[in-house]
Amino acid sequence: MPGFELFGDLERKEVNDVLDNGVLMRYGFDGMRNGHWKARELEAEIEKTFQINHAQLVSSGTAAVSVALASAGIGAGDEVIMPTFTFVASFEAIMMLGAIPVLVDIDDTLTLDPKAVEAAITNKTKAVMVVQMCGSMADMDALRLVTDKHNLVLIEDACQAIGGTYKGKSLGSIGDLGCFSFDFVKTVTCGEGGAVITNNKEYYTNADHYSDHGHDHIGHDRGAESHPFLGYNFRISELNAAVGLAQIKRLPEFLNIQKQNYTILRGVLSSIPEVIFRTVPEGGEESYAFLNFFLPDYEIASKVSKSFKENGIDVCWNYYENNWHYVRKWEYLKESKSLYPLSEGIKTELDKLSKRDFSQSDHFIGRNISCLIKMSWTEEEVRERGKKMAQIIRNNL
Ligand SMILES: *Cc1c(COP(=O)(O)O)cnc(C)c1O
Repeated sequence: MPGFELFGDLERKEVNDVLDNGVLMRYGFDGMRNGHWKARELEAEIEKTFQINHAQLVSSGTAAVSVALASAGIGAGDEVIMPTFTFVASFEAIMMLGAIPVLVDIDDTLTLDPKAVEAAITNKTKAVMVVQMCGSMADMDALRLVTDKHNLVLIEDACQAIGGTYKGKSLGSIGDLGCFSFDFVKTVTCGEGGAVITNNKEYYTNADHYSDHGHDHIGHDRGAESHPFLGYNFRISELNAAVGLAQIKRLPEFLNIQKQNYTILRGVLSSIPEVIFRTVPEGGEESYAFLNFFLPDYEIASKVSKSFKENGIDVCWNYYENNWHYVRKWEYLKESKSLYPLSEGIKTELDKLSKRDFSQSDHFIGRNISCLIKMSWTEEEVRERGKKMAQIIRNNL
């Protein structure tokens, strides 16, 4: 992560194909486009890469999550269970549909705790959204058991873990619907974009129509198409899709580099007994986009994190103090600071947030350090970085 580090000729070539004929839209204009259908090609490539029946490109990862939920029929008043540690897109995507985000604890995988999920289920719960944070995953078998038992939709946000696997399956392809983001800082980038993937034909058709104003995409005359149901505009442009097409083909190369750099850093830090790496569920393989580890307590983690910054170790975070990824500092959410009126159901749930006991999440996030793995580092740079990190950790124990 991120894919822009290795932007090059392949990306330029795909974009130039689009510029040469000038069709920037993914639908229609068949005669003008000289056979170039970048969004369609990218969808086919995603289906092949992740061994999934259907892929629908959309305008962002956030849109992908909203479209996935809408495609499964989730909306006003429905409760969606999500983790306390995630990107803010999770609750945005839920609330946009009028659904209610219900936040629950994470465990030592840094993702949803299946026990906390089960405890939060009510008769309004319709879906569980697992977020495969920082390159790794939840115990998917345990979560599936819970969702099957309670007849819930399992949405899998794999935006930060593209290329990771669980029991031989690609992350994103395990839930009923999976979501990817191709925003500028993700492993595969196209500037702005995202995808919904699923093996469920009906969900796919819903996603295809919903993300383009409800168009059924039958025939070759956009104006004459019918609209089986209401939709919205979450379309991706051909320019973005072109970049994504070049990048997705490079995913194996990206994953290799991430794994090499991750392995070197992990090897160096393994020599410190107080460093405990995050738990990866049995049968799981990380995407190696991040290296995550726990220190003995929050005080040490906080000191190490500060010292990293002061000593030039960038792209490492202690998320306990972060405004963007952890519930603790989401004041605007807890205070329902919305430009427009929110439903009573959403407000009631958000009002409870500041009183909820998330000490289990605090326990893991407080002690955690999360380091992005860059692809542009040379081997020497990674070794240097590892040595410096180990020294700083030792100095603060
Ligand atoms: C990046 C990200 C998203 C949203 O993606 P955008 O394309 O930026 O809208 C959603 N979920 C997670 C976990 C992410 O990291």
